[in-house]
Amino acid sequence: MNNDTRRQFFERLRAANPAPTTELHFSTPFELLVAVVLSAQATDKGVNKATARLFPVANTPQAILDLGLGGLKEAIRTIGLYNAKAENIIKTCRLLIERHGGEVPRERAALEALPGVGRKTANVILNTAFGEPTIAVDTHIFRVSNRTGLAPGKNVLEVEKRLLKVVPREFRQDAHHWLILHGRYVCTARSPKCPSCTVADLCDSWRRASPHRARSATP
Ligand code: SF4
Repeated sequence: MNNDTRRQFFERLRAANPAPTTELHFSTPFELLVAVVLSAQATDKGVNKATARLFPVANTPQAILDLGLGGLKEAIRTIGLYNAKAENIIKTCRLLIERHGGEVPRERAALEALPGVGRKTANVILNTAFGEPTIAVDTHIFRVSNRTGLAPGKNVLEVEKRLLKVVPREFRQDAHHWLILHGRYVCTARSPKCPSCTVADLCDSWRRASPHRARSATP
């Protein structure tokens, strides 16, 4: 995919959804951090159900410490791996209070030093809570980037680095959400919805499968 095509790709995603955002419910950086930690191997819908129980009772590091490990586990018990996630969240709350005055830090290294927080989670927090133009590559973005030819790579770090290099600056802030939503609802792992896909004629996979249609659809 060349630069002009990449630009068209994002122009179309933007036209369809000018202000994309996460489907996780949150109102503070700390709530987002907890929701993202809970979202590993869980659906956003499932996380939202659990945080709808948890956040009205405890939505700060101190309030979660006051709730205790048992109380936290009870609130999030519907989510997979809830035991390990609860332990990580409790440790994270302690660290946030000890090292960051109870606030979520805005630096990647400080975020990645928190239990249960890896590069992908740090990218989500930096992007969605703090407005940094980072791109967290999850399974959806990895698939879309490779299938379309937008930013091919053998692993998530390779794809992330390539996306940061090739996504035009004006789209970088929202690229993460456009690509996740596109992968979740259109370019799905099984049975992607190519015939109704808004970027089909720009997509390497579709062009390879239907070269004549790609040519006639390209302006
Ligand atoms: S044309 Fe198909 S493979 Fe290409 S981006 Fe659209 S849904 Fe995905």
